[in-house]
Amino acid sequence: MKKIVITEFMDESAVASLRASFHVVYDPKLVDDTEHLIAELSNADGLIVRNRTQVRGDLLAACAQATVIGRLGVGLDNIDVAACQAQGIQVIPATGANALAVAEYVIGTAMVLRRGAYQSSEQVASGLWPRASLSNGREISGTCLGLMGFGGIGQLTAKLAQCLGMRVVAHDPMLPMDHSAWSQSGVQSVSMDQLIAQADVISLHVPLTPSTSNMLSAERIAQMKPGTIVINTSRGGIVDEAAVAAALRQGHLGGAAFDVFEPEPLGPGSPWQGCSNVILTPHIAGVTAESNVRVSSMIASAVAQALKA
Ligand code: NAD
Repeated sequence: MKKIVITEFMDESAVASLRASFHVVYDPKLVDDTEHLIAELSNADGLIVRNRTQVRGDLLAACAQATVIGRLGVGLDNIDVAACQAQGIQVIPATGANALAVAEYVIGTAMVLRRGAYQSSEQVASGLWPRASLSNGREISGTCLGLMGFGGIGQLTAKLAQCLGMRVVAHDPMLPMDHSAWSQSGVQSVSMDQLIAQADVISLHVPLTPSTSNMLSAERIAQMKPGTIVINTSRGGIVDEAAVAAALRQGHLGGAAFDVFEPEPLGPGSPWQGCSNVILTPHIAGVTAESNVRVSSMIASAVAQALKA
């Protein structure tokens, strides 16, 4: 029986479906026990990971027998894909399966941050009535959403935003101008400078690569319109977090929602301490009960198919 090692959490019914045909070692804590993991990998045919397992170096070398790696998500920056290819290992991401969860996160946080009124529960429950101070919230309809990266998640986010009356522009020089994504969505392709000059809400949907590292630099952040909201669900290292936090404290930016950081978890003395109108989440934008089922079943069937082929 072929062996599959799963190092991070996966929907139990998808794990059970794999157990029907394979010897499965499933331990969501394996990611934190490198010695045990490397030992399990020596005779494994397949490996399934999320974003915390770093598939490179010694860990990849241990995959001597493996022919497939399933990624319970889409970013591949935790996997040395070139080295996998050289070793004859196929890498399969869960393309599209968590896109809706991320798109809803972007729209939800943008609305909460524009309105700025949903943190009064404790005050209201205690008998206070901060109506005057919460009466200047802003609507989302009629504003401009600027998407950096117009792939699967960017396109879905645009669709939701348009339903709410937002105008959407996107910067994605890798997506050819004659690609149907532009004509079918009605989203305008713009340069980075144009996006920064126009957008009221800026959201990032690019992979972490040398070309996207520090893409939203301190200089770019300083050029944003006063009150801009910045949302990063892509990867830590793409946005200068310290510059966003400083711009929030200075009152230049209107709010920020960050799901990804450099490093994760944040270390002591994080730049975010003391910032107001921020939403910080622990890399869960793409993880909902529903997306976990979709991602897990997609990867379970793709890995099973690859191993049976
Ligand atoms: P995708 O591959 O469908 O789209 C990425 C787009 O970015 C592509 O269209 C590409 O042309 C564009 N791009 C690449 N380099 C660029 C550059 N320098 N400037 C502008 N555009 C550039 O990927 P996706 O499914 O939309 O996901 C995007 C990213 O979101 C993933 O790589 C991953 O890192 C992140 N993500 C995070 C979560 C989470 O839970 N926080 C969940 C899913 C995905």
